[in-house]
Amino acid sequence: MARRLRCYDCGNAYDCKDRTRCSCGEPLWFDVDAAGFEWPNEPRSAGMWRYRDVLPVRNGDGPVPGPTPLVRADRLDEYAGCRLSLKHEGVNPTGSFKDRGTAVGVAAAVDAGDEWIGTVSHGNMALSTSAYAAAAGLDCAVFVPADTPPERLKLIARHDPCIFRVDGDYGQLYADTLDLDTEVTFVNSDTPLRVAGQKTIAYEILERTAPSAPDAIALPVSSGGHASAVWKALRELETAGLIDSIPRLYFVQAAACDPVATAYREERKDVTPVTADETIAVSIANGDPPSGTRALAAARSTGGAVVSVPDGETRAAMERLASAVGISVEPSSAVALAGVRVLSRRGEVDAADEVVTVLTGSGYKERYGADADARRIDIDALGDELADTVDP
Ligand SMILES: *Cc1c(COP(=O)(O)O)cnc(C)c1O
Ligand SMILES: [Zn+2]
Repeated sequence: MARRLRCYDCGNAYDCKDRTRCSCGEPLWFDVDAAGFEWPNEPRSAGMWRYRDVLPVRNGDGPVPGPTPLVRADRLDEYAGCRLSLKHEGVNPTGSFKDRGTAVGVAAAVDAGDEWIGTVSHGNMALSTSAYAAAAGLDCAVFVPADTPPERLKLIARHDPCIFRVDGDYGQLYADTLDLDTEVTFVNSDTPLRVAGQKTIAYEILERTAPSAPDAIALPVSSGGHASAVWKALRELETAGLIDSIPRLYFVQAAACDPVATAYREERKDVTPVTADETIAVSIANGDPPSGTRALAAARSTGGAVVSVPDGETRAAMERLASAVGISVEPSSAVALAGVRVLSRRGEVDAADEVVTVLTGSGYKERYGADADARRIDIDALGDELADTVDP
């Protein structure tokens, strides 16, 4: 079982399981010997635990994340400018891909005999972590920005964690919790345990398409944890000899908060913090991404790119997903589809490309939506009103 941590950048390795960063400052991930890995011969009901041979824990309590559907969305091909498939992560137990990393983090905490687990989050990860902590009988501490919307707090509060609304800089909060001398195991966005769990998204996609691979995978980026995880999976599957080619990784941010896209555009090696403006993509508004530089390396080394999109295009993509293929997502997920459109306009993605877009979170938690075009009618006029609509 993988228990050694390694730096993707300088290659340093560490045996201390509580460490999250290399001495060079970059984030660590679990070293995995994937050479002998084969696609597992286990039922789909095992979900993400089918890939336990490449995970740092073997099992977990609580609802099982994955497998999530990979939907071929040909009705959106023209809109996206490619052959589009959607990885529908919103159907995970708490409605986002975060459950995969949480499941691994909570399982590791249980294995270690911990009583507390914690996280720093804009909402989805706090919800996921509090639900899985409840399932495992752990106490849970979540730290959210003070301006987190009340409807998100209510969802989280149902699982009865200790919720701290924190005034201050989010990037600093993130780093400070990982440095605390505490009994609480923090599973923040880009910690090695979370990255290990989230890697299973790409394992599921590639298992479906193997031995060929899609031409590209597009996903929204905030901390860079998810982006790092997908990159890690591709590297492991290449080592295992299970895929013929490496998909280009495209990462998308909201224009109001796009530190990784900015560094990409400016051809820098390192991502530096930006001041975030308001955006509807609240789940990806991290101006100081802890794995931003690693995400940048992932995009570059796979021949991909990092782009950002204005909220108007995100809203349009969100409405298309709901109306054309019946999938309701939150704005932070729709960002990825809006980004694919930008890339095809630029000629980086073409009509023949097979592109998988990861829809990271469900739209059923949010108030966003089209203003309903609902006609008010009298009950006695049902038949006539319907006839007018069906056959005007
Ligand atoms: C957390 C989150 C993201 C961003 O993932 P990172 O690993 O922080 O880059 C994207 N979409 C949704 C819905 C999220 O909850
Ligand atoms: Zn290093």
